[in-house]
Amino acid sequence: MAFESVARILRMADSVVVLTGAGVSAESGIPTFREALTGLWAEFRPEDLATPEAFERNPRRVWEWYAARRASIGKVQPNPAHIAVAKLETIIPRLTLVTQNVDGLHQRAGSRRVLELHGNIARTRCSREGRVVDAWPETGHVPPHCPFCDAPLRPDVVWFGELLPQTVLEEATNAAASCDLLLVVGTSGLVYPASAIPHAALAEGVPVCVIDPADVPLASIPGVLAIRGAAGDRLPALLSAAWPD
Ligand code: NAD
Repeated sequence: MAFESVARILRMADSVVVLTGAGVSAESGIPTFREALTGLWAEFRPEDLATPEAFERNPRRVWEWYAARRASIGKVQPNPAHIAVAKLETIIPRLTLVTQNVDGLHQRAGSRRVLELHGNIARTRCSREGRVVDAWPETGHVPPHCPFCDAPLRPDVVWFGELLPQTVLEEATNAAASCDLLLVVGTSGLVYPASAIPHAALAEGVPVCVIDPADVPLASIPGVLAIRGAAGDRLPALLSAAWPD
């Protein structure tokens, strides 16, 4: 039922917002943060590796953890869910893609405009001035130092306890609250403030659809259209149902 309703809304829509989380990359083989804490990293907790305090205490360990994650992300490919979202951008007049993922797989699948709520693991920035840097002198320091101010460099991601980029969050929330359909894909909805975005849409009467194999809290809110299943299966199926060849 929900599937057919969403396909119908999608076909008529001028503006759609897609909000994605870690689940959209699961079928590419990217583990969630907790699942990635195996092998060499099994003894650590997320707060040992992904907080400003952790970086202050042990910048080398945090840098090496992100280098390991970056390397494993480099070995995987976008999956049919990323590809379906990229295709949607070519069909819907105004598509806003908002992601909590830091893996860059939406861009690699062809999405051109991506609002990244939690940054991107491929980028590096200065831990003091925040400036994104592409290159630095190889001095053997781990982490390397900023070529402009000599402070340690860090990954350009949002750590636990840090603020999200406010203009990006505002743009995402405003788009969700004023579109014809919000598709929420592969996010448990437990990480605030990204989890508030669907509520901003619901408050304005925007139809909200959740695609997730699990029974996420948002799916049980009255009026929310819940499609149970894997994103790599359900998203391409929705596009085929909305625009049969
Ligand atoms: P989460 O781990 O809290 O929730 C993931 C959701 O995806 C769950 O509801 C799960 O049931 C669902 N899921 C699993 N397989 C799926 C599939 N095949 N198709 C659709 N859904 C599937 O993730 P979150 O809500 O994104 O929050 C976790 C935080 O960790 C975020 O801040 C995110 O930035 C970060 N994170 C990012 C990545 C990444 O960049 N790929 C990976 C791990 C964590």
